[in-house]
Amino acid sequence: MRTATSGLDLARATSVDEALRILRDEPRMPVAGATDVYVGLNFGTLPQTRFLDIWGCDELRAIRVHGDTLSLGALVTYTACIASPLVREWLPMLVEASRLVGGVQIQNRGTLGGNLANASPAGDSLPVLAAADATVVLRSLSGERRVPVTAFFTGYRATVLRPEELIVAIEVPHVEGRQWFRKVGTRAAQAISKVVIAAVRGPSPRIALGSVAPTMVRAHDTERALASGASIDDAANILGREIAPIDDVRSTGDYRRTVAMNLLRRFWSETA
Ligand SMILES: Cc1cc2nc3c(=O)[nH]c(=O)nc-3n(C[C@H](O)[C@H](O)[C@H](O)COP(=O)(O)OP(=O)(O)OC[C@H]3O[C@@H](n4cnc5c(N)ncnc54)[C@H](O)[C@@H]3O)c2cc1C
Repeated sequence: MRTATSGLDLARATSVDEALRILRDEPRMPVAGATDVYVGLNFGTLPQTRFLDIWGCDELRAIRVHGDTLSLGALVTYTACIASPLVREWLPMLVEASRLVGGVQIQNRGTLGGNLANASPAGDSLPVLAAADATVVLRSLSGERRVPVTAFFTGYRATVLRPEELIVAIEVPHVEGRQWFRKVGTRAAQAISKVVIAAVRGPSPRIALGSVAPTMVRAHDTERALASGASIDDAANILGREIAPIDDVRSTGDYRRTVAMNLLRRFWSETA
């Protein structure tokens, strides 16, 4: 019997160095938890036939604190985030987001690196990492580079990631202020976001949203308005202009804009 995976060429790496050597020598699509890759294969939307399984690169599973930075390996799963005392303490909004990703099976396999590289505007960890001012650490055999999450996405499902690079970690500086996360979907579990927002009420507010534009949006104009004392209604109107939600099978652009503005008001009143 032929399945969606018949005829595919899969290499496996058990260390990052081995994975990077394979990627230098031949173009292959990395596969971590495969929760997005399998969907693409089943729907016939992935042109690739050569893959590199990095699930065995255990060094990418670490969750550590160095100084005032929380470092999350690219293979950290949602289940690992939920279980981690460090993530609970440093980035509780990531724990909240992780609990609402897919169901338990997806939380067990889906990784932060996969969510970033997949670059869906609906990726639930993306606004969290953007509101936390996180940095993506990319590595190839030529070296490492660090890219702020807000500069990682270059367009709809497009990133700065090069074919010979892997995401190896995400670095999150200490977040000062109250963290807030909400996801609005059709239902609580197994639902792709209609709107997702992560925000921090600190010395200067930070607000990021998903599913309201071709890429995750960090709402800088809205942040500046709130920081300079604008009313929440004025800030909500600015947010309404700052996002560009579309009509699609999950929702309408008008609904998404209204929900995003209401979520901003709720963030402001609940963190007052
Ligand atoms: C039923 C279902 C429900 C879901 N629900 C949600 C949800 O609620 N919220 C949400 O945000 N997502 C959801 N997803 C999407 C998916 O689970 C997440 O995006 C997940 O984080 C992807 O991680 P992964 O390790 O499985 O990625 P993979 O499928 O292995 O890879 C995804 C992409 O990332 C690339 N990649 C993976 N790791 C790396 C790396 N370290 N370096 C470079 N490139 C890499 C791959 O090449 C591929 O392009 C759902 C998926 C399914 C099937």
